[in-house]
Amino acid sequence: MPVLTLLTDPARTRLPRTAAEGLPVAWDPGEPRWLATGVAVQVPLAGRVGDDELRDLRAAWSDRGVDAVVQPQVVRRRVLLADMDSTIVQQECVDELAAHAGVGQEVAAITAAAMNGELDFAQALRARVALLAGLPTSVVETVLTERITLTPGARELVATMRAHGARTALVSGGFVPFTAEVAARVGFDEHRANVLQEQDGVFTGEVEEPILGAEAKVAALREITAGLGLRPRDAIAVGDGANDLGMLGLAGTGVALHAKPVVAEQCDVRVDHGDLTALLYLQGYSEAEIVGR
Ligand SMILES: [Mg+2]
Repeated sequence: MPVLTLLTDPARTRLPRTAAEGLPVAWDPGEPRWLATGVAVQVPLAGRVGDDELRDLRAAWSDRGVDAVVQPQVVRRRVLLADMDSTIVQQECVDELAAHAGVGQEVAAITAAAMNGELDFAQALRARVALLAGLPTSVVETVLTERITLTPGARELVATMRAHGARTALVSGGFVPFTAEVAARVGFDEHRANVLQEQDGVFTGEVEEPILGAEAKVAALREITAGLGLRPRDAIAVGDGANDLGMLGLAGTGVALHAKPVVAEQCDVRVDHGDLTALLYLQGYSEAEIVGR
């Protein structure tokens, strides 16, 4: 049965107790189930949910800082695949690296165009990495320590899914030294990303080929699920960029998180306000089941 989830960013907004009331009669809403007081509530819908009504409901709630998501059913997935930059961490690591190299503006402009799908991902990555030539590799450590922050809910998402037996993977079009550290901080089972070539303690301005882009994220989803005897639809995936669309479309639940508009428009599940615990609520986990806090 379709289920409506209303959820908020717990740090900013509270859902009123009456949130689940006043839904269209045609939706035939059932008994609301509060997953977290003031933060997330689910309502089963026995009727038919019209596209126009859903769009209106989403827009009305969005103005109040609330995400409204309708899923065909609520399923706890066995695998998590997560993008890193602007998803699990709040920055774009390559942009932060470039800022240290004194080419921040040039690189950030290329990143933005690539994530909006305006540039080929691999070409854009090569162009940005070329601008990093000569940068000491030690800068990665500095950037990780001083600039990179985890998105709220990242640890809880991974810890809770792992506690329920799920496999968790960080899959990034960024770079291995960042994914290694971020995966360790958050508690992911594994990580995949691109490798920057280095020589004598500096980056050469080249990246190992083939570049891990959109297709590699899809391949990772297929490989990781198959390795567990599962199918892509047994996974939940989350990302924000154009290079995440393939993975988000193939997964059983594909979540566009605070995504670029061109990405969000193509995803059934979009979270514009909630933090990463939204992925737990969308799977029906209650606050009491969340670990890692
Ligand atoms: Mg991203």
